[in-house]
Amino acid sequence: MTTRVGFIGLGHMGAPMCARIVGAGFSVTAFDLAPAALAVAVLEGAQAAGSAAECAQAADVLITMLPGPPQVEDVLLGSGGALAAMRKGSLAVDMSTSSPALGRRIVDAAASHGVAFIDAPVADALKAREGDLHIFAGGRAADVAVARPVLEAMGKPDRVVHVGPHGAGYTVKLLVNLQWFVHAAAAAEALAVGTRAGIDADTLYTAFAAGPARSSFLENEALEVLRDGEYGERFPLGLVTKDLGLALDLAHDSGVPAELSAVTQGLYHQALDKYGSAAGEMAVVRLYEDFAGTPLRLLHANGR
Ligand code: NAD
Repeated sequence: MTTRVGFIGLGHMGAPMCARIVGAGFSVTAFDLAPAALAVAVLEGAQAAGSAAECAQAADVLITMLPGPPQVEDVLLGSGGALAAMRKGSLAVDMSTSSPALGRRIVDAAASHGVAFIDAPVADALKAREGDLHIFAGGRAADVAVARPVLEAMGKPDRVVHVGPHGAGYTVKLLVNLQWFVHAAAAAEALAVGTRAGIDADTLYTAFAAGPARSSFLENEALEVLRDGEYGERFPLGLVTKDLGLALDLAHDSGVPAELSAVTQGLYHQALDKYGSAAGEMAVVRLYEDFAGTPLRLLHANGR
C-alpha cells in the first residue's frame, strides 16, 4: 500500500519539499494557515486538509516544516491537535529547525498516543526543488528507516543521514548554521577592516577565497553581496536569529562557554533591529558596510 503522507507548513522550504513528495508518487494531504500556500500545493498535486488535525488523521507519515518551536509546539501538541489526531503506529517527522528540548517533550507526548517521532531538519535550501537537501535525522533507527523513502524524495540517499538519537538532528542542524553565521560575520568584519585600510575588495576577496579560511560561503553566498549587491532574502533574519537563540541555548545546556556564538548573536540582533526581520541572512555584511561607511563591492565580476 502506498504510504500516505501529511505535510504541514508550505512556506519557502515546505512548498518545494511537498512537491518533491507528490512527484515521487506518494499520496499527500497538505495544510498551511495561509490559503495561498495551500492552493499552490494543491496545484502541484496534493490534497487540501481543512486543519492540521485533519491533515494528521489520515497520515502514515506526518511531516511538519514550520518556522520554529512555538509553531511546532502549537501544531503538534497545542491547538493544532495534530499528534492527538494521528493513528496508533504512525510516525511524525519534524523537519523544522527547532529545539531538542521541545523535541523531548514531543517524543513523550507521541509515545502516549502510540505514535513515533523523529527530528529531521534540513540544510542546503537552494537544492530543495531538485530534491538534494541535506537531511539530519535524529531518533530510533527503525523509525528513521520507516521515514527514509519519504525523506529520499527530498534528499539523495547519501545526504539523508541518521546522526543519532532523538534531538541529534536538531543539534547538528543548529551547529551547522551557527558556524555559517559566525563565518559570515567574520568574513564581513575582515572585508570591512581591509577596505577601510585602503585595500580594494577584489584583492581582499581573492586572498580570502584562496586562503586557509576559504569556504563555500565565500564561493557562493558572499558573492551575492559583493558582486550583485543582494543580501539573500530567502532566509530572513527572523529565522537566523531564532536559530542563533536555539544554538546558544544548546551551548548553555552543554556547559561549554560559547563567547564567539554570543558575539555573533549580538551582531545579528543589531542587523535585525536596523533592517527588520524580513531582511536576508547576508544583512550582517550590510551591517559591516554601515560600520565601514562604504559598500563592499567587487569591481570585477568574478572577484579576481
Ligand atoms: P516560512 O516562514 O517560509 O514557512 C513557514 C510556513 O508555515 C508558512 O507557510 C506558514 O503559513 C506556515 N505556518 C506557520 N504556522 C503554522 C501553523 N500553526 N499551522 C500551519 N501552518 C503554519 O519558513 P521556511 O523558510 O519554509 O522555513 C521552515 C523551517 O525550515 C524553519 O524552521 C527554518 O528555520 C528552516 N529552514 C529554512 C531554510 C531557508 O533557507 N528558508 C533553510 C533550512 C531550514
